[in-house]
Amino acid sequence: MPPMMRRFAVLLPGLLLVLLLAACTQSTEPLVVEDYLLGTVIRISIHDDGYDTSLTDRVFERVATIERRMSTSEDDYDDTELLTVNRAPAGTATPVSADTFEVLSAALDYSRVSDGAFDVTIWPLVKLWGIGSGGETVPPEGEITAARELVDYHDLTLNADGTVTLAREGMGVDVGAIAKGYAADEAERILRDAGVTSALLDFGGNILVIGSKPDDSPWRIGIQRPDAERSRYIGIVHTADRTVVTSGPYERFFVEDGVRYHHILNPDTGYPSRNGLVQVTIVAERSIDADALSTTSYVLGLTGAYDLIESIKGVEAVFATEERELFLTPGLQESDESPQNTTETHFELTDDEYQVREITAVTDR
Ligand code: AMP
Ligand code: MG
Repeated sequence: MPPMMRRFAVLLPGLLLVLLLAACTQSTEPLVVEDYLLGTVIRISIHDDGYDTSLTDRVFERVATIERRMSTSEDDYDDTELLTVNRAPAGTATPVSADTFEVLSAALDYSRVSDGAFDVTIWPLVKLWGIGSGGETVPPEGEITAARELVDYHDLTLNADGTVTLAREGMGVDVGAIAKGYAADEAERILRDAGVTSALLDFGGNILVIGSKPDDSPWRIGIQRPDAERSRYIGIVHTADRTVVTSGPYERFFVEDGVRYHHILNPDTGYPSRNGLVQVTIVAERSIDADALSTTSYVLGLTGAYDLIESIKGVEAVFATEERELFLTPGLQESDESPQNTTETHFELTDDEYQVREITAVTDR
């Protein structure tokens, strides 16, 4: 046998085995389970073999516990830990669970880091506007001013004994910007502890992936267009072992006199934030960070947010502006060498109505 043929004959059984294994792994359908929690559809897709709904039930039970503790929706709950905190007379030290304390601590950290663009005490404004819970008109100016004055994270104290105190009457906390991220991290922990190595968690558009796809290629996470054509993607984040969280003005909003009023509020103005940014996607390791930072970035605007994200190691972002420009932090830019094959986390533009721009173009504005 010529040497070439001989090598082929030796390789053939191995090759067949690889093909066979590939066929086996690909024929297995993922376990996909959905539930409605935290005001959104949550879908868990486990791509490893051998798991059943007893595992996803545990995950959903954990998420339901988080919701029962931290919801501030008076439509859904008579009482939760955070409703109790918000209703307590000023100066009362209210006990909360370790869960709630941890989320409030993270939210307070982000309030500090963003100098109040993210403010965990946003509740009086959220309640006044009621966006997503029946609010459909702009509140009177005087009420906006009054609510705005009650928003100040300096007046929230997290006490060493695990209790929480708000300094002024009428104040309140809201973790709507961060709770989904915390819940996704908790879901990830439960799945990894059970041995899951390949899974996709979709918390109403907040995505978290465990490992890579069963064939070892990166997950491809589509980023929706921020405008009316939401069913289209502007691009795809290729990644593994990361979370991808997007904040935009379209999840909850109403329109009055042709103006869209959405659910991300600027604590300085008391109005929905408006600064030319229309969507922010954060890629990070922890979903609580990505969730907090997407909301924070949305309020900060492009230059402030870009600087903030650049200063945090391991966190990347895609910013979309009203002019259909996209700005990427360096860690998401495609490498010049064979961008299609790279396993590094990167963003691939797929919509030719959008343009990726260099951030230097922004600093001149
Ligand atoms: P997200 O969809 O993660 O961007 O979070 C939006 C939610 O965060 C809103 O529905 C409010 O509950 C809350 N929120 C709105 N504005 C702010 C803000 N400036 N700081 C903190 N939380 C906010
Ligand atoms: Mg958020």
